This record gives sequence, C-alpha cells and structure tokens, in this order.
Amino acid sequence: MASAGAGGASARDALSAATDAFSAVGIDTPRIDAEVLLAGITGRSAADLVANREEQISPAESRSFSEAVRRRLRREPVAYILGSKGFRHIDLAVDGRVLIPRPETEMLVEFALLEEPGSVLELGTGSGAVALAVASEIPGCEVTAGDVSTDALEVARSNAVRLGLADRVCFFHGTWPTPGTFDLIVANLPYVALGDDLPPDVRDWEPPGALFPGETGLECFEEVIAALPGSGVEAPVIALEVGHGQGEQVAALVRGAGFGETGIHPDLAGLERMVTGRRQTTSP
Ligand code: GLN
Repeated sequence: MASAGAGGASARDALSAATDAFSAVGIDTPRIDAEVLLAGITGRSAADLVANREEQISPAESRSFSEAVRRRLRREPVAYILGSKGFRHIDLAVDGRVLIPRPETEMLVEFALLEEPGSVLELGTGSGAVALAVASEIPGCEVTAGDVSTDALEVARSNAVRLGLADRVCFFHGTWPTPGTFDLIVANLPYVALGDDLPPDVRDWEPPGALFPGETGLECFEEVIAALPGSGVEAPVIALEVGHGQGEQVAALVRGAGFGETGIHPDLAGLERMVTGRRQTTSP
C-alpha cells in the first residue's frame, strides 16, 4: 500500500490504497472494510468520511490506519481491530475471546421481541450480544445468560457494565443456570462442522470453542437438548440459531424434547438460520 506521507493524506487516497491492498489478498468487502476501519479510527461515520473524502486525515490517524490495514491484511477481522461491533442498537466490545456478533443473530432478538417474555435465558452468550440487546429492548424482562467459557463471560460482564445493563442480566458460568422457569430460551451455540470451509478471518481468528462443536456440527444441539429435561430448567418456548441445512435435524431434536410445534426460519439471505420450538399447551 502507498504510504501516507509524514504530513498525512486525504481520506480518499488512504481509502483507495487500503481498498487495493485488501482486494489484492482476496478480502471479500475491501472498500467497506477500509471505510469502517478509517471511520473507527477517526471517530467519524463512514458516510461522513466518504462525503468529505478530499479532507486530510492527521498524521497520527494516518499511522493508526496503516497499522489497522496491516492487521487486516493478515485477515484479522475488522471488529477485533476496532475492538467493537454494533448489534441491534448497542455496541459491544469484542476481542479474540468471543465470537463477533453477526447480523443474522439479530433474528433471535427479533423473535424474543415478538414473544414479549418476562424472562429470557440465553445459553452460550459469548460477548453478551443477544442477552444485552434483549435487556435493552424489552423493558422489565429478566435476563439470565451463561457461557462455558470464563473468558467469554468476562467480556459479556464488562459489556453489561459499559452499557449500564449490569443490573438487568444475571450471568452464570456453565451450560445451565440454577433450576428455574423462563418464558423463553435462546441460544447461538457452536454449529460449524469440522470439515466446513470457513474464511480465514473466521477460522484463524475467532475462538474455535464458539464455532466447532465436533465432527457433524450438531453435537452441541444434541447435548444441550438432551440435557434440558434433567437440567431443572423449564421453558415453554425455545429459539436456536442454526447453520444452513441443519434446520430439519435440529427441529426434530427440539420436538423430541417436547416442543411439539417447531418452525424453521430463513435469514435475509434465504438461508435456514433459526429453529423455534413451542410446547403445545393442553386447553383446560
Ligand atoms: N455464523 C457463524 C459462522 O458462520 C457460526 C456461528 C456459530 O457456530 N454459532 O461463522
């Protein structure tokens, strides 16, 4: 990439050099990545940067941007470089201890909103994205969220504090909380099969424990759903994020656990992304 001189460079030059460098190594979204990185570093919105691309960026910003570009060229994800990722209406601090929240995972939050639950349990909270978005968007909802990774829990807890939601979410370590009844269980468990092709940004940088449950990709669903009856946790409704092609198998597991009415929901790209299960209530 062309180096920005000691006097700084225009945003346009910095963006086009970075975009070219990203394209050259096969990064999927070279222009967007350059804009998001420069926006994050200069504290401006990407729209503002692009609208004022002839403006100079300061030498210090130019140096930070060059360092960010170097990191991205090694395929480190943009969210780890900037240390944050937007999800629904909140910004989460993220680093290599947690999976970067994905836009498609917002479906779990959208589903929760429709259910109007008084209490939600999230399994495998990672950065806390789903639990914290639910707490921030559903006033009065009691949220409980856990993770088997103590590293992830540290990130989730500090996100809760930063967002002023620490008193709204009760975190626990492990797969199950202390026995209790919740209106809804949500989970984005690891579901990538071992042999699946992943981009290097994901494969080499995101925590394997948040991605790979085992050979088939279904192992976590099998374990968690099988353990549900013995966990002491009760809920009338469950919503699970799944990978494309897993919908039918996960729906069958969910039905086997007593949620008679299941649904397989596609994401905006038309891929199977969420399985929901509802216990059928017997009318009196
Ligand atoms: N959606 C993620 C990916 O495809 C996987 C997340 C998960 O395993 N829960 O990279």
